[in-house]
Amino acid sequence: MKKLLLIIAALGISLTAQAAAIPEPQVVRITPRIYALLGPVGLPSPHNQGYMVNTTVIVGERGVILIDSGSSDEVGSHLAKAIAKITPKPVTHIINTHHHGDHHLGNSAFKNARVLSSEECRKLVEKTGAEWVALMENLVGHKLPNTRPVPADVTVPGDSRTESSLQDVKLLLWAPKGSHTPGDLMVWLPDDKVLIGGDILVNGLVPNLRDANLKNWITALRQVEELAPATVVPGHGPLMNKADVAKLHKMLVGFYAGVEGGYKKGLNDSEIRPTLDLSEWQKLKEYDAAMGANINRAYLEIEAENF
Ligand SMILES: [Zn+2]
Repeated sequence: MKKLLLIIAALGISLTAQAAAIPEPQVVRITPRIYALLGPVGLPSPHNQGYMVNTTVIVGERGVILIDSGSSDEVGSHLAKAIAKITPKPVTHIINTHHHGDHHLGNSAFKNARVLSSEECRKLVEKTGAEWVALMENLVGHKLPNTRPVPADVTVPGDSRTESSLQDVKLLLWAPKGSHTPGDLMVWLPDDKVLIGGDILVNGLVPNLRDANLKNWITALRQVEELAPATVVPGHGPLMNKADVAKLHKMLVGFYAGVEGGYKKGLNDSEIRPTLDLSEWQKLKEYDAAMGANINRAYLEIEAENF
């Protein structure tokens, strides 16, 4: 019996001391110079070690442009190893699509890279970065001693489109009016017809409206459809095509109209919920976790608009 207890104790120690391995990205070659590193889909957890975001690698003349860097220094280093299998060129630029920790807390793993974001994103990383580290530590179940927020050193203004060339790659830095967050930035590669959407585009999971402006988000999706991208890299989930973008757009339009209709009838958000057709939303991951808050958020936005 004593021996058994000793074995259990030993097992217990080894189980708590040993963190799960960070899952490998699914590497998809979109064009000869653009690769999507697709992360697992789900919330950050001890199982995925917080790795649950998509990252895009653009191989330029003398270096790599990396779009979004993961949720910790550890995840960033993990991505660096995957990038080294694609190209020996160093990561010289990071572009962050927004201030949510899963998209930028890996920046610190790329010591020599310049970091670019929207101006509002930079401010929000400065303001909320430490909170995101604490939240991530909580979700993965251990300390992240090497992880620290690295805000952008180069920014573009909100509601702007900036033509740029990095490592001889032509790109459009497109900061729409705050959609998923107040500081969104999308990246359009006109020569490749590839759009990197951050979380304005998500595939297979419920869009998160917590920091969103739904009306602007709907406008941004309409504009993405007008661009007619050949491939969209969403912030989470598998690659998207034009039809997938149209479907997401239609879903958000229907959702907004449903909540607005209920508001105009004088219903509150919990009374509106049963009147909505959520059949398409129900098919998506994180439905139970996100939907109540999403309805509340849309309701508050519509209430403010009508005030
Ligand atoms: Zn995200």
